[in-house]
Amino acid sequence: MVVVVGSANFDFTIKVPRFPQVGETITGGKLITSSGGKGLNQAIASARAGAKTHLICSVGNDILWKQILAIIRKEKNLKVIPFFSKQHTGCAFIIIDENGKNKIFVSPGANLNLKFSLVSRKLKILKPKHIIIQNEIPDEVIKGIIKMKDKFLNSKVFFNAAPYKDSVKEILDRPDFLIVNETEASFIFNRKIENESDALSVLDDVRKDFKNTIIITLGENGVAFLHNQYLSHIPAFRVQAVDTTSAGDTFIGYLSYALLNGSDINDAIKLAQAASAICVSRYGAGASIPTAREVKNFLKERAQSEKAIAKIKKRKE
Ligand code: ADP
Repeated sequence: MVVVVGSANFDFTIKVPRFPQVGETITGGKLITSSGGKGLNQAIASARAGAKTHLICSVGNDILWKQILAIIRKEKNLKVIPFFSKQHTGCAFIIIDENGKNKIFVSPGANLNLKFSLVSRKLKILKPKHIIIQNEIPDEVIKGIIKMKDKFLNSKVFFNAAPYKDSVKEILDRPDFLIVNETEASFIFNRKIENESDALSVLDDVRKDFKNTIIITLGENGVAFLHNQYLSHIPAFRVQAVDTTSAGDTFIGYLSYALLNGSDINDAIKLAQAASAICVSRYGAGASIPTAREVKNFLKERAQSEKAIAKIKKRKE
């Protein structure tokens, strides 16, 4: 079983012809609503991959939470353990212009009221094989889980240190898996990371200090990683990207699923990248996360086209 401890938001997205000036109102944009928050996205990805998944989160007893609950109830493998706060459920307001550029405002609300004392009680009962956490919940919860893992739990912890914050820097070598994108990795390692060779060079330099697995996702450039002193890069699948929201969350949910089911790190990263390639080729956050069947079909089609290309090449030789 997988437990995601993390944020749950409700997102309001409006597509506008252009961003408004200060004091200006633009009317007429279409409203799209969806689930959001890294915790909820990762929980949906893990559940759609096929893992029995629980999401522990803090929400308000309000209409936004009811909307989120309706979405969660449609997920066969996903159960939610909500702690109710006096604050409102977290929400995000996203405006997207005609060129696909976005401006996002987040009101975290109840997410910041999650308490380690409550989370730890649930973890002791659930005894998950994997725990997935991110930086959209209080530091005391993140640090508490990482310390608790060493003392009481036989769980592997996947820490997605996103969005980046300095306050958890001292514990980054503790979770079994540290997963970050290139921007977060640049902050953490204090080095410019823009492509796979930058990422590999940084990972090579920090391998003395980090005994855990570090995975740096590089958008269309794939993934660089350090695992048991083994350093490697795996390219991304080529797709037409239209919206990269929740690509990293999809990656983590599928990575955890694959490792839970005995895949080695290379195969797990390949599966996770196939899932996130599908995710970026569609619009939305939760809505763009693919099901296991979609990922399987995608990999099958890619394998067939690779075979066909190899055949053509052979004929030409
Ligand atoms: P985040 O969403 O956390 O910023 P990334 O943008 O690095 O994470 O994306 C995570 C993974 O999603 C990448 O490692 C890659 O496999 C896949 N991905 C992201 N963008 C693209 C793209 N344009 N084309 C193909 N795959 C992509």
